[in-house]
Amino acid sequence: MDPWSKVGIWLAVGVPTMVFMEVWAAVLHGKVWHSLLYTLHESHHVPRTGRWEKNDLLSFTHAPIAIALILYGCLAAETVGREVAYGIGMGMTVFGIAYIVVHDGLVHKRLPVDWLARWRYFRLVRNAHDVHHRTGAVPYGLFFGPWAVKRYSRQRQAQRQA
Ligand SMILES: [Zn+2]
Ligand SMILES: [Zn+2]
Repeated sequence: MDPWSKVGIWLAVGVPTMVFMEVWAAVLHGKVWHSLLYTLHESHHVPRTGRWEKNDLLSFTHAPIAIALILYGCLAAETVGREVAYGIGMGMTVFGIAYIVVHDGLVHKRLPVDWLARWRYFRLVRNAHDVHHRTGAVPYGLFFGPWAVKRYSRQRQAQRQA
């Protein structure tokens, strides 16, 4: 397979993987972190005492899957399936890094990435995530947070008017 076809496969599966991970992260956060695993996640909703919080453990849930997919993509016999696995693994990894930079870095100030706030989009993401911290409710996702807040308040308004 020529190198450009490989890059094409990686992008074709990697980009949808990132979108899927945002949706999946929102579902997990809303349905699992805020119920079954709230003993761990609660540490993220109270002021942090040291450098780490118990909730940080939840950041590592998907890394082994991504690592396995990337390793398979690097080591298996050269097939389309191998490139697909690599693209999914890389999409998950890029999402994970972006999540840490924006959520832990920008929103919670654990990394020196305040300069991201120069872009309106990142300010909206930060504001939307602050809403989650104030209410413990919507938005559970991060990168689509601004739209989730908008949709939620529209629904609330419609309910009030009904
Ligand atoms: Zn947070
Ligand atoms: Zn939460």
